[in-house]
Amino acid sequence: MSAAGIVIVGAGLAGAMAAAELRQQGYAGPLTLVGAEPHLPYDRPPLSKDVLLQADMPSCRLFPDGFFAERDITLRLGVAARALDANAGQLTLDNGETLAFAQLLLATGARARRLPLLDALGADLCHTLRTLDDAERLRAVLCPGLRVLLVGGGVIGMELAASVTERGAQAVVIECGDSIMARCAPPPLRDWLTAQHRQRGVQLHLGRAVREARRDGQTLTLTLDNGDTLSGDLLVYGVGAEPDTALAEQAGLRVAGGIVIDADSRTSHPRIFAAGDACCQLDAHGQPQRRETWESAKNQALAAVHAMLGLPTPRFDPPWFWTDQYGVNLQFAGDMRAPDWLLRGSLDDARAVWFGLDQGELIAAISINQGRDMRSLRQLIARRARQPAEVWQDPTRSLRELAR
Ligand code: FAD
Ligand code: ADP
Repeated sequence: MSAAGIVIVGAGLAGAMAAAELRQQGYAGPLTLVGAEPHLPYDRPPLSKDVLLQADMPSCRLFPDGFFAERDITLRLGVAARALDANAGQLTLDNGETLAFAQLLLATGARARRLPLLDALGADLCHTLRTLDDAERLRAVLCPGLRVLLVGGGVIGMELAASVTERGAQAVVIECGDSIMARCAPPPLRDWLTAQHRQRGVQLHLGRAVREARRDGQTLTLTLDNGDTLSGDLLVYGVGAEPDTALAEQAGLRVAGGIVIDADSRTSHPRIFAAGDACCQLDAHGQPQRRETWESAKNQALAAVHAMLGLPTPRFDPPWFWTDQYGVNLQFAGDMRAPDWLLRGSLDDARAVWFGLDQGELIAAISINQGRDMRSLRQLIARRARQPAEVWQDPTRSLRELAR
């Protein structure tokens, strides 16, 4: 049994960031980071982009070699935690070892949602994309000239469509909803992005579900719910991520489609915190919100560390995330449910900003290849700025000036 200190379960973005921040903030006690994957903590966003696009495998490491040892952070990689006793302050690992803790952070992330109908096609031709191992497997088989069936037109599906196309393969997307990226993007952006994909040759089947999936040797055939059949050489599906709440449920913590946390990333047990894709966070109205984004995972981890150490809750800018498709950088800030959208700039040369308004107040923004405007946009969103439409739409008006 180890001396009680802080234990972090999950060595992904949230877990690794929390460990680094604990030391940064001066925590000098025992600190252990437990991770089920065998790899040192790595970043997931490149898995659907650079890992599939670059000729040489890029490094996705979050921190350089030696980072954890230099900070006296004990790494327990390649071993999962399997039981959590919150009251006793004990965590049991898969190898039977027990770790004692004074405080614990659950940063267990999420898994790709599985579709047994497609998994039955065989792991050599049917892929999902969540881990570095998944990405390396896909990278090894993705070749120019292939016809790749992509089931799910969310962020991962559309990033894959772009990467597959850029690799010289044919992307065929089957999305059961009426539009792509419906979970996280508003209608004007979805329409523009749909056109971008179609212009580059992506075949999109919207509002269609897969009824049957068959394999004959190396050829895959999907039958859609309208009777159409589509054939392909490879299939990748991205139909959402399921939060990994197993330990939290077993420990009796409050779970509601994610481990429920407050603004300090505290769970329903006072000594257990949680951060990242595994969580849903109560908003100002007490409603649980799940954000599956890089920055949200990092911020929730920082909030947890501050609360663990008795430091004031950090203040964060409005939520933000990005996606890269065909070398176009799209950044999103604020509340994508904004009812009114105003465009500034030109969509033809992919340089534009959309302003998302609610009763005249700025509550959201999307930049297309204009990432340098994001800082000002987030400041304007934070104070729900109001300007006449012609001011928002005038490209000669500096957003930095407006944000002052
Ligand atoms: P994860 O990164 O999933 O890490 C959780 C870790 O916990 C995993 O390693 C898991 O094995 C481990 N674990 C789980 N259970 C246990 C256990 N019982 N014991 C030990 N370890 C355990 N976000 C953006 O904002 N922009 C992007 O462009 C973007 N692109 C993405 C592309 C891909 C392909 C993916 C998959 C995600 C992308 N994201 C993007 C989302 C972003 O990467 C996630 O929000 C972020 O990784 C969440 O971090 P996390 O630490 O909560 O979870
Ligand atoms: P991800 O992060 O995996 O991209 P999203 O929630 O952003 O997750 O998108 C998943 C997409 O997959 C959604 O647009 C959803 O409508 C779609 N989807 C879910 N199940 C199916 C299915 N069986 N067939 C086709 N599309 C699906």
